[in-house]
Amino acid sequence: MAESLPPTRSRIPGSGLAKGLAVTLRTMTRKSVTAQYPDVQPELPPRTRGVIGLFEENCTVCMLCARECPDWCIYIDSHKETIPAATPGGRERSRNVLDRFAIDFSLCMYCGICIEVCPFDALFWSPEFEYAETDIRDLTHERDKLREWMWTVPAPPALDPGAEEPKELAAARKTAEKLAAAQEQEQPSAPEAAGGPPAAGGPSAAGGSSTAGGRPAAGAADTPGQEGPA
Ligand code: SF4
Ligand code: SF4
Repeated sequence: MAESLPPTRSRIPGSGLAKGLAVTLRTMTRKSVTAQYPDVQPELPPRTRGVIGLFEENCTVCMLCARECPDWCIYIDSHKETIPAATPGGRERSRNVLDRFAIDFSLCMYCGICIEVCPFDALFWSPEFEYAETDIRDLTHERDKLREWMWTVPAPPALDPGAEEPKELAAARKTAEKLAAAQEQEQPSAPEAAGGPPAAGGPSAAGGSSTAGGRPAAGAADTPGQEGPA
């Protein structure tokens, strides 16, 4: 038995053309979204994975990043250095000194594992992406270049209002409180010194004693202030 076919729709001649023109008119009236790169730099989110920066001072040459990199594109060379004992009879210590730290961005797949595993916060993402090269060998960035990328790493976002305070801040506050307490212990000597000779003296004597009492106090306030940041 022959199956019945669905009825064919009758087409109005020129309807396709009208539809096409309608699409053209609709898009013509919309705002253009073309990115005018490189004349206008794109606004990238702060967590963009552009390039990796190395903060060398934090690197302890533990080699974790190189070991975990799935592409084996991190090259680290180092040597051991002996640090003499700090006290007589003490023990000598040895530490790793970084000789080479390089990342081959022609192999890197931007997975971010190296940054995640670094226990000392020595690697960071930078949103910079304009480092194309005509020679593939130039895509191996040595430590100096990796260091330069650090200047383009965005500042970390502010903590949530209810977030726990970072350990570093608590440690810094503790040190500041200890300094302030030590300052307070030193200060009582100033009023004692001011209390003796000035009581009998006139304006000039009072002036002298207040100067003598005032200056050390000012000096005491200034000195820790200068020492603090150092
Ligand atoms: S981002 Fe991934 S592939 Fe690139 S260097 Fe780090 S671990 Fe290796
Ligand atoms: S994991 Fe971090 S500290 Fe260890 S070698 Fe890599 S960058 Fe340096």
